[in-house]
Amino acid sequence: MEFKGFVKVKGAREHNLKNVSLEIPRDALVVFTGISGSGKSSLAFGTLYAEAQRRYLESVSPYARRLFNQMAIPEVDEIEGLPPAVALQQQRGSASTRSSVGSVTTLSNLLRMLYSRAGDYPEGQGIIYAESFSPNTPEGACPECHGLGKVYEITEQTMVPDDTLTIREKAIAAWPSAWQGQNQRDILTTLGYDIDLPWKDIPRKDRDWILFTEEQPVVPVYSGYTHEEIQRFIKNKRQPDYMGTFTGARRYVRHTFANSQSALMKKRVSQYMLSSECPLCHGKRLKQESLSIKFAGYDIAELSGLALNKLATIFQPYAKGDAPALKKLEAKNPEKVIVARRIAEDFLARLQVMLDLGLGYLTIERSTPTLSPGELQRLRLATQVRSNLFGVVYVLDEPSAGLHPADTEALLRALDKLKASGNSLFVVEHEIDVIRHADWIVDVGPAAGEKGGHILYSGLPEGLKEIEASLTRHYIYGAAAKPANDPREPKGWLKLEGVTRNNLYQLNAEFPLGVLTSVTGVSGSGKSSLVSQVMVELVAEHLGVKVDITDETDADPLEQTEVQTPGGHINAGMDQLKRLVVVDQKPIGRTPRSNLATYTGLFDHVRKLFAATPMAKAKKYDAGRFSFNVAKGRCPHCEGEGFVMVELLFLPSVYTPCPTCSGTRYNPKTLEVKYKDKHIAEVLALTVDESANFFDEEPAISRALEVVREVGLGYLRLGQPATELSGGEAQRIKLATELQRAQHGQTLYILDEPTTGLHPSDVERLMLQLNRLVDAGNTVILVEHDMSVIAASDWVIDIGPGAGEDGGQIVATGTPPAIARHNASRTAPYLAKQLK
Ligand code: ADP
Ligand code: ADP
Ligand code: ZN
Ligand code: ZN
Repeated sequence: MEFKGFVKVKGAREHNLKNVSLEIPRDALVVFTGISGSGKSSLAFGTLYAEAQRRYLESVSPYARRLFNQMAIPEVDEIEGLPPAVALQQQRGSASTRSSVGSVTTLSNLLRMLYSRAGDYPEGQGIIYAESFSPNTPEGACPECHGLGKVYEITEQTMVPDDTLTIREKAIAAWPSAWQGQNQRDILTTLGYDIDLPWKDIPRKDRDWILFTEEQPVVPVYSGYTHEEIQRFIKNKRQPDYMGTFTGARRYVRHTFANSQSALMKKRVSQYMLSSECPLCHGKRLKQESLSIKFAGYDIAELSGLALNKLATIFQPYAKGDAPALKKLEAKNPEKVIVARRIAEDFLARLQVMLDLGLGYLTIERSTPTLSPGELQRLRLATQVRSNLFGVVYVLDEPSAGLHPADTEALLRALDKLKASGNSLFVVEHEIDVIRHADWIVDVGPAAGEKGGHILYSGLPEGLKEIEASLTRHYIYGAAAKPANDPREPKGWLKLEGVTRNNLYQLNAEFPLGVLTSVTGVSGSGKSSLVSQVMVELVAEHLGVKVDITDETDADPLEQTEVQTPGGHINAGMDQLKRLVVVDQKPIGRTPRSNLATYTGLFDHVRKLFAATPMAKAKKYDAGRFSFNVAKGRCPHCEGEGFVMVELLFLPSVYTPCPTCSGTRYNPKTLEVKYKDKHIAEVLALTVDESANFFDEEPAISRALEVVREVGLGYLRLGQPATELSGGEAQRIKLATELQRAQHGQTLYILDEPTTGLHPSDVERLMLQLNRLVDAGNTVILVEHDMSVIAASDWVIDIGPGAGEDGGQIVATGTPPAIARHNASRTAPYLAKQLK
């Protein structure tokens, strides 16, 4: 391949990059490889993309530039020849509220235009504009439910779940919990209500007023006094503590739900609202006039609920012009025929790219928070392929994530199309098939964190063969290590019956216990529905534990209040399980307050060591003093975060180091205390590797540190904030925390695509840890696409054969060699190749 030009990077030092310089071709597929934590993302996103974005902003407005400068100036001397860039990064759990497959891809706009201009209108119905087909506009929304599809009722029962409690005992659960709730109770006292009467004994009239009034009286508040005392104070004109505004409980719930910026607050109040399907639109969210317009016999809501591959079949005859409906229309309304055909052609062309990328099982209405990060990234990729942009760099983060090898080939074709239209592709990848497809490889290493950040190789793929320090080359050119195939014998079976969820219907499935099982199948076949949804819920229910799998996401609380039917039951195997652990790639925390040391529990030991020093004892500092979550020891300005958040208009807020403590998080008095010559902030700045020496006399700490090193995270700093960790790093921290627990066996571990973000050599390490768990008497069940992992499993359950409606069946079960010989399994040929 001839390269037309190069991007020249000089002196890149972002994160762990070691002042590196390199040249990367434009108009080519460049793949960045290296073990996780080596610095690939710091180069591709942190440096190249960040610089492109900075330049772009510089060209728009000085105001925006100033705001962005704090977040995106990469540490680099110079970059030459850099085109404008578009990043298609995987964002975990940060999808915005109202977006859906249709809005991300703009297919919804096209559909609305189609219905408006070329739909079948009932006799006498005037034309309806495109906006009126959107439930998010006043013109289109159903007047009963305001376009939500659901109506909400807030009742006495929902707000006061236990009516034997008094108001002082927090009978009104819906009110805010902290001081604001206290404030409301104080106001009621001033107003003369008895807050020590059980709720059920309060007169009906008073109960109704407290819960449902829209009035907001403002009254003087004297905390801690009785109504009579307060009456006297008012008469004597004694100064009140403050003036308080009363808000009825229902008003508070409604107002918070509608206006709060915090997803958590919304979620909290949503539990006091009963939702039911809107009686007028039956969940279709649109006004009746809009729903009366049909295309191919469907209203727009029905059409939006069909799988994309079904839509393709429906639109085909319209795009070709031979749909019977078009023929009929020809005589009456020839201009409508032209419009219908043109829109159908465009629609179909866009659909095709999505089908190619293995997304045909999705629907237009599917909300983005329910998509996996990989699905979302491929949707955005599909949108770009049709955008006709050229001369830009697309920077992608592991686009193969969540893809079965059968789907990866289509992904490569989509990337080739973008390249053929004159674009450059910078891709961070671990998948061997994608790396093999590269025009140019940049290999970063040799190890992770401080021990990485060097460019081991930048050049044509063949050249990597000669690079001795590269771990990547073995997987591409070497004979990959074959798994020792000696599958373990199951110690029992976990039997699920009648599983019904998403595309699964009345499915029976048996999972072997005491072994390592991989659940395989093309994306959308139903693996996650079976394993990460139904199985997790059923096992948790049996064990009587709550697994909040939607926990950390910012997803729309409206979606989260959706009650899923249990969908199946377990009829054997639970007698052999005592615990359930779901190890996912979600962040271990969303603020810099959580970090490796706090999450693993290691920090508790460290704080005790500090509290036991002579100086701490003399000053009566206890272990709490050394926590940045406790007021006495931490920096008062940033309240122990080490960072302050800067809220930016129209942009995501950013963190910058605290000016008072310079990011140390503690106040100067706390930092005077030293353990082995280091204060607590200096200890948090040590890497795991360094602290292994530092704490070598402390068995409890050493043991915890050792496990973190074994999962390959020795390069992380003890205090490295959760916000700086990748999904793969977060997952391995969770795994290490598990490994360090005393192992009793009988635990079921569930991991959904644990190899995402991991280099093949990290995958080997991960397998080592998982096998240790199994050897200790536990059960591990994985949802996986990586053939090396599948081949090394004891048992495989292949779901399919296809995606969505074409999937949802168990195609084959057995040991890896048995699956590899199975005719109907789409996994078989790839597995056979791996086992060869
Ligand atoms: P890769 O993409 O190869 O997995 P990264 O570029 O994400 O590696 O990370 C390289 C190093 O930089 C790691 O040690 C990682 O912990 C660190 N790092 C990543 N993001 C940040 C950040 N926002 N701030 C500080 N350090 C970071
Ligand atoms: P896999 O894990 O094999 O990729 P999934 O279990 O995620 O497959 O999906 C199986 C089917 O269920 C697909 O058609 C998918 O679109 C659908 N599906 C998955 N999750 C949801 C959800 N939260 N809401 C609606 N449909 C879903
Ligand atoms: Zn409605
Ligand atoms: Zn501070």
